[in-house]
Amino acid sequence: MELLRDTYVVINLDRMKENMKLIRDYVGKDVAIAAVVKGNGYGHGALDIAETIMENGGDYLAVATLTEALELRKRFKEYGIFIMGYTPDEYLRHSVDNDFIQCIFSKRQAEILAELGSESNKRPIVHIKYDTGFNRLGYRDCQESIDEIIEITKMENLDVQGIFSHFALAGDPANRKQFNDFMNAVEKIEETGFKFRYKHICDSISAIDYPEFNLDMIRPGAIIYGLKSFRKNDIDIKQVLTFKTKVYHVKEIKKGEGVSYNFKWKAERDSVIATLPVGYSDGYPRNMTEEGMVTLRGERAPIVGVACMDQCMIDVTDIPGIQVGDEVVLYGDGSNNTLSIEEASKLGKTNKNELIARITRRTPRVYIKDDRVYKILNYLTEEI
Ligand SMILES: *Cc1c(COP(=O)(O)O)cnc(C)c1O
Repeated sequence: MELLRDTYVVINLDRMKENMKLIRDYVGKDVAIAAVVKGNGYGHGALDIAETIMENGGDYLAVATLTEALELRKRFKEYGIFIMGYTPDEYLRHSVDNDFIQCIFSKRQAEILAELGSESNKRPIVHIKYDTGFNRLGYRDCQESIDEIIEITKMENLDVQGIFSHFALAGDPANRKQFNDFMNAVEKIEETGFKFRYKHICDSISAIDYPEFNLDMIRPGAIIYGLKSFRKNDIDIKQVLTFKTKVYHVKEIKKGEGVSYNFKWKAERDSVIATLPVGYSDGYPRNMTEEGMVTLRGERAPIVGVACMDQCMIDVTDIPGIQVGDEVVLYGDGSNNTLSIEEASKLGKTNKNELIARITRRTPRVYIKDDRVYKILNYLTEEI
C-alpha cells in the first residue's frame, strides 16, 4: 500500500516485542497478561499490534467497548478478548455470540447473560467489576454487593471466571487500602467454596511498582507501548511510536507580520516560517499553539500561531537551509533532540496516554518488523 501522506506514525513492532518480553520476565510465568489495546491500541492500531502482543507473552486482549472487541474478533477468531467496560443490556448478545469475556457488575446483567447462554448452549465468561474507591464502574464495596456476587457465582449458565478492581493511584496508603478492601471482599466470596480463576487489580504503573499486588492477572496498557510512569521500580521498556511529518512550504516574512488565526503570533524579526501538514484532525493537539515544538535536522523549532485542524506553522529562522520535504519529528523517543511522548504531552497540556490515543485514523501507520517496513496502513483508503 502507498503511504499517500507525509504525516504518519511509525510503529516499531520489534520494540513492542521486547517490551512484552520484559513485562513477561518481570511478572513471571504465573501471572496472566491481559494486554490493553483500547483506543485503537493507544493509537498504535489495535489490529496490527495484536499478534506481536499475543506471540510474545500476551494471554488476552483487553478493550473498553463492545465495538473494539468486535473489530478484533473480525480478524482474530481464537484470541481471548476481554471487554473491561460496560455493555448495554440490548447488546450483550453480541458479547455471547463472539465469546467475549464480559465485565459485569449487576445481577440483572448476569441473568441476561445466563439466559443468552442457555439459548445458545454456551456459558458466557464474565469478570465481576468490584469498586474499591475509584467510583467509576463496579459493585460498591459492601456486604450487600458481596451477597449478590455470591448469588451470581451460583448461576449455572455463567462462567464467573474473574473479579477485578482498579487503582486510583492516589498514593501508597490509598493503593494499599484499595488492595486490602479488594482482597477482603474476594475472601468473603471465596469462603463459600467458590474460587475465581483470575483476581486482578493492576494496570501498568501498579504492576511495576507493586508486584506484590499482581495476583493472577495484570492489565497493562502504557508499558506495552514503552511509556514509563512507574516510580519505585524500573524495567527497560522503549517507546514504540514516532509521529512524523514533512515540511510542505517555506516562506520569508517581514517583522510585524502575523501568522495563523487572529494573528495571535506576530514576527518580532524578519522570519522564516515553514508549514507542516499536520493538525488537530490528525490528533496533534491544538494546545500546541503556544508552547509546542518539533524537531527537524536535529534542532527544535517552535510552533507559531494557532495550530489549525490540518496544518501548523513553525519558526525555522534559526535553522538555516530548511527546505520543502525536510523530515519533521513531532514526537519521537527523545533521541536526536526529539520530544519524547512524555515531553510532548506536557507541552500539549495532556498526558502520555491521551496524546497517542488521540492520533486519528486520518494518519497512516507504518509498521516496522525485523528492522524493515512490514506494512503500511492507510485506514481511509484501505480495501474493504
Ligand atoms: C485503560 C485501563 C488499563 C490500562 O491502563 P494503563 O495505565 O495504560 O496500563 C487497565 N485497566 C483498566 C480497567 C483500564 O481501563
